[in-house]
Amino acid sequence: MRPSILNSLFADVKSLQGVGPKISQNMGRLFNRQVDDTPSANAYVCDLLWHFPFSVIDRSLRPKVADAPEGVVVTLTLTVGQHQPSPAHNRRVPYRVKCFDDSGDLTLVFFHAHREYLTERLPVGETRLVSGKVEYYDGQAQMTHPDYILTEDEFAEFPAIEPVYPSTAGLAAKTLRNAIGQAVALCPELPEWQDGAWLDKNRWMEFGSALKAVHSPESSADLEPVSPARSRLAYDELLANQLALAIMRRNLKKSSGRSLAGSGTLRELIINALPFSLTGSQTQALKEILADMAAPERMLRLLQGDVGSGKTVVALIAMAAAVETGAQAALMAPTEILARQHLATIEPLCEKAGVTVALLTGREKGATRADLLERLAAGDISILIGTHALFQSDVAFHDLGVAVIDEQHRFGVHQRLALQAKAPKGADVLVMTATPIPRTLALTLYGDMESSKLTDKPAGRTPVDTRVLPMERLGDVEGRLASAIDTGARCYWVCPLVSESGVSELSDAERRFELLNARFPGRAGLVHGRLKAAEKDEVMRRFQVGEIDILVATTVIEVGVDVPEATIMVIEHAERFGLSQLHQMRGRVGRGTAHSVCLLLYQSPLGDVAKARLEIMRSTEDGFVIAEEDLRLRGAGELLGTRQSGTPGFRVADLAAHGDLLAAARDDAALTMNKNPNLEGERGAALRVLLYLFERNEAVRLLAAG
Ligand code: ADP
Ligand code: MG
Repeated sequence: MRPSILNSLFADVKSLQGVGPKISQNMGRLFNRQVDDTPSANAYVCDLLWHFPFSVIDRSLRPKVADAPEGVVVTLTLTVGQHQPSPAHNRRVPYRVKCFDDSGDLTLVFFHAHREYLTERLPVGETRLVSGKVEYYDGQAQMTHPDYILTEDEFAEFPAIEPVYPSTAGLAAKTLRNAIGQAVALCPELPEWQDGAWLDKNRWMEFGSALKAVHSPESSADLEPVSPARSRLAYDELLANQLALAIMRRNLKKSSGRSLAGSGTLRELIINALPFSLTGSQTQALKEILADMAAPERMLRLLQGDVGSGKTVVALIAMAAAVETGAQAALMAPTEILARQHLATIEPLCEKAGVTVALLTGREKGATRADLLERLAAGDISILIGTHALFQSDVAFHDLGVAVIDEQHRFGVHQRLALQAKAPKGADVLVMTATPIPRTLALTLYGDMESSKLTDKPAGRTPVDTRVLPMERLGDVEGRLASAIDTGARCYWVCPLVSESGVSELSDAERRFELLNARFPGRAGLVHGRLKAAEKDEVMRRFQVGEIDILVATTVIEVGVDVPEATIMVIEHAERFGLSQLHQMRGRVGRGTAHSVCLLLYQSPLGDVAKARLEIMRSTEDGFVIAEEDLRLRGAGELLGTRQSGTPGFRVADLAAHGDLLAAARDDAALTMNKNPNLEGERGAALRVLLYLFERNEAVRLLAAG
């Protein structure tokens, strides 16, 4: 149960003044929020607390009319003169109010004005403080739709420096700011969960003051992520995160594990059936995984490796080890396509070893599904591959020994816990991720989970020669392409999607396709997201069999095929892609034995950061190094391709800025779990509030479960 002290923060935003259903919906969109326990709500009041200003408007500038600079927010002290309402027959003419001070005249301009409102707000002969941007029209100073019209008294109450928040369509800046102001005011005084000495050492203020400070910045320095107030709140969130992971980990470890040490017979059959031998890092990873499984404690291990590094085989062999002991194994993929892909890889190998495999996705229904579940419960299915469908309550294993979660960043803690419930005897857990994750990010996503890495490429892959070139060299590129194609090479040509207003999203790729097709008639094809699946498949097929030599594509998704003959990857506007994305695209070439090149074309001029990023691509093919750099240069949201800024799963902390705090939060969490594992006493209660505040509810539930 969430402590009642937090009730006002987990209330529906509609409980705030000025927030109705429409605005609430827009807020839900802005905060990317899915409200689980109050389905009628679009967002919670606390969502507003974590929505930080990105800029300030300084209203302390108070010049005379004659000195007011154009286009800058100023606050003028004006005497109200004559009103000139729009003519009754022509509402397109604006309502004007003549005003002045002792230096000159200024006209206030209102379109579609409400006459009563303006006569009330701007009484003739009175003094008003009017805030907004001055513009000149025919040499006359005017201000259109001032931000504020206030009396002297009202102005005295008004912050001279006003925060500006990121917003979204349909959510007026004023409405949002007003709602955030209410949320901050509503925030109750919360017990201190941080260690006093640690706060003093960092010179951090208490939570409530930090929150107020973040929302009332006094200068642009206060907007920095590393400002004391923002750092304090980021640390709060990191601590909640690390504490929750520590609790979960302890719980998994504690819940009786079991030793799964098989005979090795099935593994041997599978390894013998492979058309290749395992790489050094596959062998090493397996050694680590099998040792964990054989140990009496429960395994909780991360397997990291680029796309194509051969994780599936590692997972299969680990699952086979469980099957050897008579237990079952599950492999869970984030999408149906990936689940089917795993099945396609695994099924033939299992057939050779005499292991029964089945697939369970949302698509299996009726009698087929019922039959499958029956066989699963009876233990007749040894390996079950599937999607989220594996979590459904009627899915019961006979004896689940190991669960492999192919995570691709799409699952969370919830799923891992749900799976745990399916294995009363305690299943070992192996989590696979495809994007190499920098250590700091892995810590926030997985805690101190042990990890195995696949670092070497499977045999048959060749290094890719990467070049970074300005667009001006396009002519050379085409020339080289012509001679390469003559010798039988195939080329991917990627153009990023552009969504600048007014321009079709496809224009770049379409234009490039037309140009290339003119130069190389009949030898180029185009794939993009708007094609029907069948059309896409047809273009891909033609490229695969060599009917066309150049495949122009809009994103990495469309080039997700294995064409060993493709040895050239051209990426236009490489500066617009994330490094990890570039890395994945580059991985499409170098799959055969021939020399491969990757040409990164950029639009000049290139800024220093962009230059540094492309230079990293040129200098290394190590996905882990690239991921670290991507995190350092662009932040975690970009790295994981989640588009939202900051670090996924975090509202306040951003690893790019607060990475240093993470280690401290981890140590803090470990120490707490040591000294006060059940979060008892005063500090324990405060830490529970912290966990709920940052919505790590499931961790508290585990505490309660003991
Ligand atoms: P991942 O799941 O890591 O993206 P996969 O397991 O799908 O990668 O493997 C990619 C391809 O490499 C598959 O076709 C697989 O059969 C092959 N492969 C895996 N391990 C090796 C190896 N040691 N040598 C050669 N090919 C391998
Ligand atoms: Mg895979």
